[in-house]
Amino acid sequence: MEVGQPLSVIFWREVTKIQIEHVVEAYEKAINEDKIVGTKCLECKHVAVPPRPICRKCGSSDIEIVEVDPNGELITWTVIFVGPPTYEDRAPYIVGIVELENGERLTGLVDIPANELKYKMKVSATFDPEVKNAARLIWKSSE
Ligand SMILES: [Zn+2]
Repeated sequence: MEVGQPLSVIFWREVTKIQIEHVVEAYEKAINEDKIVGTKCLECKHVAVPPRPICRKCGSSDIEIVEVDPNGELITWTVIFVGPPTYEDRAPYIVGIVELENGERLTGLVDIPANELKYKMKVSATFDPEVKNAARLIWKSSE
């Protein structure tokens, strides 16, 4: 709590923090169960992936967690030669952004040889059983 802040701001921040923790937990739990989830806005029906505590289309916080189709198209990628310490043994590795069927975009590791990557190639989510965090999500070709 910071001195001089209106109570409504403090309350809003605390509520938002709880909501963020809720959706992050839901996303991580789903990834560990080989699923991808998002949040569906109960006001405007927009589905956000990864989940968000507040709808970016209409601003509503009236949301529910929903499972989403784990298929999409690879729209961009890059090869990482020097990664953070936890990824050192994977380098070089590819990270890409996948556009899901509903237009939402999700980042993840890409397990496709670099010389075979194509813009808008069909990919599906797979999950590394050896990993227990967001790096568990690996995009593979479904063409
Ligand atoms: Zn909405």
